Amino acid sequence: MGAAYGIVGYPDVPRGEAAGALAACEAALREDGWIEGDHDPDAVYGDRGPTFRPAADGPAGRLLFMTHPVSGARMEMAINGVSFCGPSYLNHGPFIDMPSFECPSCGGETRRETDGARAQQERCFEMFGRYADADDALRQVACVHCQAEVDINDLIADGPPTFVLSDVAVEFWDWPPDLIEPAAALMDRALGRPHRMGWVHV
Ligand SMILES: [Zn+2]
Repeated sequence: MGAAYGIVGYPDVPRGEAAGALAACEAALREDGWIEGDHDPDAVYGDRGPTFRPAADGPAGRLLFMTHPVSGARMEMAINGVSFCGPSYLNHGPFIDMPSFECPSCGGETRRETDGARAQQERCFEMFGRYADADDALRQVACVHCQAEVDINDLIADGPPTFVLSDVAVEFWDWPPDLIEPAAALMDRALGRPHRMGWVHV
């Protein structure tokens, strides 16, 4: 399909505060003219939460239409939604290809496509089910080097810091980084905490 989405995650928000934080994110984007209208599940592939389209007169209004490359006609863009997801959100982006790992406790590195990475990934997959079902946000996974229980969000070592599990996550479908960044800054201010960024190509 060729679509991609950026995910603005707030993994530090406790699960019990997730619903309130997601509502605050939606309110901040709505009040500043980034999104508008009612829930529209057709604005994304795979509806995971309340989803809204860009506001026509707002800073992301250019995402509503495109010019057809051949006919020159103005076309509505099908995919451009913002989804408010959580609790128990899984960003599987780092696991589409096996990631490299670096333990925040012992500093041990595990390169992708090695037996060590396969073993570490297996421990992550086992933990995802426990995370989804638990009352508390359990995100600890044992390091293959030192066996210390560490937060999975600090274990992925592929480029800038990202996250895997979060109880608050906002997906921006087919939004370019230059629009996601100011929208994320707005939500950071609303929540009083910094975000972590994830990307998924589907
Ligand atoms: Zn370790």
